[in-house]
Amino acid sequence: MAEKCLCGNVVIQQTSWTQTNPGRRFAACVDRRCNKLSRWLEEPVCSRAQVIIPGLLRRINKLEEEKMELEAKLTKNVVIIQILEFIFMLAYNTLFCFPHCSVGH
Ligand SMILES: [Zn+2]
Repeated sequence: MAEKCLCGNVVIQQTSWTQTNPGRRFAACVDRRCNKLSRWLEEPVCSRAQVIIPGLLRRINKLEEEKMELEAKLTKNVVIIQILEFIFMLAYNTLFCFPHCSVGH
């Protein structure tokens, strides 16, 4: 049975992403505003990990931002290509197809 907080909500396992405890798991009330019951489930993060993990998180966030920007550019370029394809097909049909279609009918 799930552990209950003093407020009645369920206690869940969470992960801290603070500068001093990056990646360190703790048990706390499902309601993040409730501070009635909270305890660490793991030993403190070593000083080396305290430096490395936030740096890795910053890199991940930066890469995610770059990915979103590139996806937006890609979507825009696909639309431009579709418009150019339409214009090309229209021009092609006007120049080469219509004269042949009308001859002999
Ligand atoms: Zn609570």
